[in-house]
Amino acid sequence: MPEPGLPDLAAFTLSLHLVRTQTMTDQIDQAQEHEQMRRDIALREQALKPKMPYTGQCYNCEAEIKRGCFCDADCRDDYERREKLKVKYANAN
Ligand SMILES: [Zn+2]
Repeated sequence: MPEPGLPDLAAFTLSLHLVRTQTMTDQIDQAQEHEQMRRDIALREQALKPKMPYTGQCYNCEAEIKRGCFCDADCRDDYERREKLKVKYANAN
């Protein structure tokens, strides 16, 4: 004898599963879109800046560094400000 209400429960569970799967797919799509956008921005930024190879020294104060181009954000800002001024003067002359 079939238990009353069981088919409904099965259908409900199935629809819940479908909804959940759909939502997860959407979330993955969104995450991938976001990741792609982030990568595009990073690439564009890199294209704008001339490539600065790692030299083991801060480009601004020449302190020894383990990675990157600057010892901290202040040095990076200083350097970028100076580079912008250089460009300004180069364009002026
Ligand atoms: Zn520095």
